[in-house]
Amino acid sequence: MSESKTTSAEEAQTEERTFQTEVQQVLQILIHSLYTDKDVFLRELMSNASDALDKIRFRSLTDKDIVDPDAELEIEVAVDAEAKTLTITDTGVGMTRDEVNTNIGTIARSGSRDFVEALNEETDEESKLKLIGQFGVGFYSVFMIAERVVVTTRSADKDSEAVVWESTGDGSYTISTTKDRAERGTQIQVFVRNDCEEYLDAHRLESVVRRHSDYVSYPIKVAGKQANAASALWTRPRSEVTAEQYQEFYQHLSGDHQEPLAWEHTAVDVPIQFYAVVYIPRQSPMELLFAPEPKVSINLHVKRVFIQDDCNDLLPLYLRFVRGVVDCDDLPLNVARESLQNNPVIAKIRQTLTRRILNKIEEMSNNEPEKYLTFWESFGIVLKEGVARDVENQEKVSQLLRFHSSFSAKLAVDAATDAAVSDAAATDAAVSDDAATEVDASADADASADADADTSAESKPSRTTQTEGLVSLQDYIDRAKSDQEVIYYVSGENRQQVEQSPLMEAFRKRDLEVLYLTDPVDEWVVNSLQKFDSKEFVAIDAEDLELPEEVKLEGVDEPIEDRERTIELVSYLKTELADRVGEVKESNRLTDSPCALVVPRGGVSQQMERLMRMSDESFPMTKRTLELNPKHPAIANMGEILKADRDSAELKDWAHFLVDYVLLAEGKVEEPQRVMSQVQRMMSMASEAALKARSA
Ligand code: ADP
Repeated sequence: MSESKTTSAEEAQTEERTFQTEVQQVLQILIHSLYTDKDVFLRELMSNASDALDKIRFRSLTDKDIVDPDAELEIEVAVDAEAKTLTITDTGVGMTRDEVNTNIGTIARSGSRDFVEALNEETDEESKLKLIGQFGVGFYSVFMIAERVVVTTRSADKDSEAVVWESTGDGSYTISTTKDRAERGTQIQVFVRNDCEEYLDAHRLESVVRRHSDYVSYPIKVAGKQANAASALWTRPRSEVTAEQYQEFYQHLSGDHQEPLAWEHTAVDVPIQFYAVVYIPRQSPMELLFAPEPKVSINLHVKRVFIQDDCNDLLPLYLRFVRGVVDCDDLPLNVARESLQNNPVIAKIRQTLTRRILNKIEEMSNNEPEKYLTFWESFGIVLKEGVARDVENQEKVSQLLRFHSSFSAKLAVDAATDAAVSDAAATDAAVSDDAATEVDASADADASADADADTSAESKPSRTTQTEGLVSLQDYIDRAKSDQEVIYYVSGENRQQVEQSPLMEAFRKRDLEVLYLTDPVDEWVVNSLQKFDSKEFVAIDAEDLELPEEVKLEGVDEPIEDRERTIELVSYLKTELADRVGEVKESNRLTDSPCALVVPRGGVSQQMERLMRMSDESFPMTKRTLELNPKHPAIANMGEILKADRDSAELKDWAHFLVDYVLLAEGKVEEPQRVMSQVQRMMSMASEAALKARSA
């Protein structure tokens, strides 16, 4: 990983080490960066110091045997204009030699890793620079303004020795032990580059602290003067916290440098007193959402003291995309991790918080539909689990579900037309709109700047194909004809596949909307829901499906000319295909296709079966029912052939082809070779017949 060599015998304690390759890459970019928002370095150092203070405060609850048990918890920023240094000192938990090596010699943090990965994908300098702002590169960002950095730190462990770490950021660092620091905590001495001398100005530093680090709940003193409010952000009245401050706090909490989609700040007094600030991010990496042991990203504080991060008991798992903090006065400071699980106070907080978050999401879906689609694209797949897992809030979660449907394409076109119309209208109204924004901006610069950025980004039709034409269950019900008693759905692997299902014909012709369940969990969701607005979910491939009489197409029910012929064919196919299908029946819903496969009553759908067999290979296969369309020429002709020659070899081939035909549409052909040779034979036959017809 990193090489080390001892510099001399006298300084046996001094090692020179090279940075891990990834760190070198990051440093390379930072040292030469022309990144304009260099203020971020101070934000990152404050964030680290704040974490270090949280850690020692928690530890000192139970452990008095530490260095400086009574030290004030604070951060100090001092400037030496002559020496051109900026020094940041905290009384936090500090680091041992090993900790320094792992924490600031290698990249352990996922954020920095993502940064390096993204860095390698970008080629031009400007895009590379943008990434600094997007990912936040933690401690290393100090090298944007530093020509040399000296970190002196002493761990809170009583038997620890203080350590000096030093680097110019050019590929290596030195680390040694020192007797010069007896106090607990970390001191970062920054030798400021000539072109960054603005950071030697206390006023400038003060304003950066106020702007980016006001959420820090410990005093930050700049040149002896406290620069921040030094109270936990969540205890402040909502009206006194700006949008920017909420966002800064979010970055500190999550390490995510994208703006969150929404946040909720709650202060509850009865029956249990607690504060919470929770955020809905814009995105989360899939590996985080679907980690082998997914966790809830809420930090627990008790009476302002940080107790635990990722407290799984504070929210149901289906809200694991939410980030935030909870602070409760009604818990003892020494609350044990294990006792949280069945703690009635925690249970109550969880219940209230869950409801508040769902309300917030609902509000977004009602008032900011475009933003909601962004949310759904990122987290819909997780939120869905709530339908099955949270009985108490099932109805609320079901309101939030979105699906594609057989009406999606049409809806997307309509939406685009609407957008074009309203764009034209917006141009007309542009002048007065601007005037209104001006007034807002002067009233509350932070909030309106935020709101502006949001609406302008969201109101454009920026939908991806993923979210285009998504419908809610309520939309479905509202659009359905008043006498439609059920909600139709089709499940399959993707949109194209379900669209091609022959079973869709009857619905298309009758203008009945069908929901597309293309996510493997969708069917599980619908099955646990069973009904929405007292209308039952019905799969379009259910054998006993009855289409409403009134909407049946004219002619579909008219008596079939040769019933005898159909009955014969049905019984022939039953015997012939006994291995492949459970039943053969005449269909009353097919119009264009010769046949379809449907799921018998009590049977499991194909999707479900596939899902079940993934975990249990012995899960029984459902034999489906073959439905025939007696009016289709292929079926009618087969009936005629059967009448003439019960032992026809071709008839036997075609019988099998009926099943293969459906499987082909489903993308699940069982024996492609056999099907191919069958198609070849049929092509020869059809072309011969065509040739004969021509010469006749
Ligand atoms: P991050 O803070 O996101 O983990 P950094 O690169 O900023 O990433 O810091 C790496 C690690 O170094 C931190 O996680 C922490 O363990 C340690 N560290 C940084 N600054 C301090 C500090 N002031 N006191 C104690 N530990 C620190």
